[in-house]
Amino acid sequence: MENVPRRQAGPLKVPQPVRKDGAGGPDFGPRDVLRDLENPDMLVPPATDAGLLPNMKFSFSDTHMQLNHGGWSREITVRDLPIATTLAGVNMSLVPGGVRELHWHQQSEWAYMIWGCARITSVDAQGRNFIADVEKGDLWFFPAGLPHSIQALEEGCEFLLVFDDGNFSDLNTLSISDWFAHTPKDVLAANFGVPESAFDGRPDKQLYIFEDRVPGPLASEAVESPYGAVPLSFKHKLLAQEPLRTPGGSVRIVDSTNFPISKTIAAALVEIEPGAMREMHWHPNNDEWQYYLSGQGRMTVFGGNGTARTFDVRAGDVGYVPFAFGHYVQNTGSETLWFLEMFRSDRFADVSLNQWMALTPRDLVQANLNASPELLNALRKVKWPVVKYP
Ligand code: MN
Ligand code: MN
Repeated sequence: MENVPRRQAGPLKVPQPVRKDGAGGPDFGPRDVLRDLENPDMLVPPATDAGLLPNMKFSFSDTHMQLNHGGWSREITVRDLPIATTLAGVNMSLVPGGVRELHWHQQSEWAYMIWGCARITSVDAQGRNFIADVEKGDLWFFPAGLPHSIQALEEGCEFLLVFDDGNFSDLNTLSISDWFAHTPKDVLAANFGVPESAFDGRPDKQLYIFEDRVPGPLASEAVESPYGAVPLSFKHKLLAQEPLRTPGGSVRIVDSTNFPISKTIAAALVEIEPGAMREMHWHPNNDEWQYYLSGQGRMTVFGGNGTARTFDVRAGDVGYVPFAFGHYVQNTGSETLWFLEMFRSDRFADVSLNQWMALTPRDLVQANLNASPELLNALRKVKWPVVKYP
């Protein structure tokens, strides 16, 4: 145990589980000091935290990396984060030309392009097709059951996929190569009207992700369907959308009202400046699944019955808030905090604590909280959602 830090000495200030009022005591180890440094509000929770709220954070850095020639993927599902039953997420990167193969699944797929460009394809049950290029800040949505593919263009790409079922796994989908490998050649021959030898080169198992050449320009790859293109676009330019701007940041909301195909997933792309916070609020429709894109922050969740719990979050983490639980997110770093909040819903919906109080008779609010005149005067009737400075 000689290497266990016993004093706050040396260049690394070892944090101790001691609150400013003296509560707690030193931890001489064994301990993971680097993890404690990453989670200051877990080591020394705010004194207002209490109770038995379950874990609501998981980092993609703690997941299994699926490495393939052509790219990688990793996922956060109920297996890693048991409370996250409504949605599951996959973080995937493809090298230039890398392909997430032709496949389909029982869940709808919502995606956000983090960097780079890709070509996406799909076909619906009426034989109408969709082929488009997506870039940083773009979304796509593939309705449940419809086949699709993703192929990286010149620079490669990285994206977040979100599925409307916490039990989803991207390693357990229906893939074209898998079906070919598990169908007798005479059946394939009869199905396509060609000799069995036409299938000598088929893959012998699911490819999942594979390497390919970067495809040519979109126009050169066009395939015209006699039934036309899908009537509702599977793509939406979220980052290009005009945000709601507030003193502490900005919000871009996307749901079936402005991205009509996205019937089962609603989202907000939130920007919080250093020192600002996503205000105290909750959602009256469903659980919230978060993905942190940049910066670092702190989320506190209030679960009623005297319970509250704080999680330190940073780029690459997933956060979760159960339906209707109160919460807020503070930017605790020196750079802008960007995150996505997603809901298994056709609409984004948000109840602001501030607005609720502002729209309730003042005397009632005053009596309930013994509220000061300053607080009552500060309440504002504003359109949700609000990011603001303290
Ligand atoms: Mn998919
Ligand atoms: Mn929220």
